Amino acid sequence: MTEAADQAALRRTFAIISHPDAGKTTLTEKLLLFGGAIQLAGTVKGRKATRHATSDWMALEQQRGISITTSVMQFPYNGKIVNLLDTPGHEDFSEDTYRTLTAVDSALMVIDAAKGVEPRTIKLMEVTRLRATPIVTFINKLDRESRPPLELLDEIERILNIRCTPITWPIGMGRAFKGVYHLLEDRFYIYSGDKHRVSEIETIDGLRAEGLHERFGQDYQTLLDEIDLVSMAGDGFDLDAYRAAKLTPVFFGSGINNFGVRELLNGFTEWSPPPQPRNAEFNGIDREVYPDHEKFTGFVFKIQANMDPKHRDRVAFLRVCSGSYRKGMLLHSVRLNGPVRISNALTFMAADRENVEQAWPGDIIGLHNHGTISIGDSFSEGEALHFTGIPNFAPDLFRRVILKDPLKAKQLNKGLDQLCEEGATQVYRPMTNNDIILGAVGVLQFEVVQYRLKDEYSVDCVFEPVQVHNARWVHCDDQKKLREFIDKNETRLAKDHYGTMVYLASSSVNLNMTKERHPEVRFSDTREQR
Ligand code: GDP
Repeated sequence: MTEAADQAALRRTFAIISHPDAGKTTLTEKLLLFGGAIQLAGTVKGRKATRHATSDWMALEQQRGISITTSVMQFPYNGKIVNLLDTPGHEDFSEDTYRTLTAVDSALMVIDAAKGVEPRTIKLMEVTRLRATPIVTFINKLDRESRPPLELLDEIERILNIRCTPITWPIGMGRAFKGVYHLLEDRFYIYSGDKHRVSEIETIDGLRAEGLHERFGQDYQTLLDEIDLVSMAGDGFDLDAYRAAKLTPVFFGSGINNFGVRELLNGFTEWSPPPQPRNAEFNGIDREVYPDHEKFTGFVFKIQANMDPKHRDRVAFLRVCSGSYRKGMLLHSVRLNGPVRISNALTFMAADRENVEQAWPGDIIGLHNHGTISIGDSFSEGEALHFTGIPNFAPDLFRRVILKDPLKAKQLNKGLDQLCEEGATQVYRPMTNNDIILGAVGVLQFEVVQYRLKDEYSVDCVFEPVQVHNARWVHCDDQKKLREFIDKNETRLAKDHYGTMVYLASSSVNLNMTKERHPEVRFSDTREQR
């Protein structure tokens, strides 16, 4: 075993997925509390404002430090090193979330017990499916009136198409919430509603311990019946099925009251997978890179700008995939085919931004850069090893950029190129005119781009609607057919920032017709960074 393999075995790298308001922020705070990073609690709260209004988001971004420390949080727990990757709350930044999900080995899904499975949960589960990411489920807010637990599990199984194995089971709900029964431990955890108690929670061993009828009343009989039902239905917790993303262990609790969270964290750290191998391409051949591969490798899944307004630097978040990162080492950028010296990579232990001495597979490090790093970039010690599977998603919204001062065209292009490399927006340049078309997943992205162009590049512009409904990256191996396709569709074709050809469809009907006319051309709604 290499040291990297030993260290990797201790790492657990995950993200929380949920529909807004299900309780992700609250749960994050409580997890950090258990991880000993108590001082962070306030900081996480601060980040919430990011999704209320653009202006809040900008103001917050400018109070440097806030968003970066909460982007990645590392804490020790139960002998493991846990890396929690935060994802933006607002769905307008969901592309960022999708890419962050490529950098984790597992995820924790939070469901509101009164609402069940919500639209964003469904979408995020689809994304985790692309890599068969194992999911642990936390059903939250049992201190409120909730839907019956059996109904909730049924809904998760039906809509999200994953088997559920309850690990804890609630006794009562809302005002009558009494606690949970842990099916594997055969133990009750009693709810007191006191948010501040972290350590002592009353427990009772044994499903049929004495005095429970008197204590829980009618809810006890309901619990016995439900436990009977779920025990009959399932074969208990199957670790392999969980690791294969076919089954999710389910915990119930109340995040805000810090109830059920410790049991969740215990189960999570015990079962969740250590850093997994990653798909890469090496000299045109697909291969998997294992954490015990001796040499350092990693990829960038997120770039955050404006950490320091005075320096205009950006922090690129890199997931270490193999070997180790040592302070001061020379990193090889596979895309630029050259070295990039990183003098002070950041780590995210507890609340502080600290300089890293050494980072291991599963860890995230922050690399300062001034535009030399792009999302999807792979880094190595010299090997031309390119990680695959970090996609751009075809945007849903499009705008044409109108520059107010034509003399600023150069700055505009520079600004857009950089914003593109950060993943803040996508830029398309039509083949037959000089328009610039922006694509985004959410409308807030446009506002952010407009604001940043002015603030960072002194470029004033407005965005106007444009007759584009879908963008699809096009590929065709047959050069002759490709030529024909281009000749016929030139006015709807553009190049993206990376020079890849894109078809800008005016409507879904238009897209379907074009597909039918050119069956040999592939239209793709994701594009991998190269
Ligand atoms: P997020 O949008 O998923 O990050 O959700 P938050 O953590 O911000 O929670 C949304 C709202 O639900 C907030 O008002 C929280 O105080 C509340 N909340 C979170 N967890 C619980 C819980 O366990 N019980 C109750 N009653 N409210 C909760």
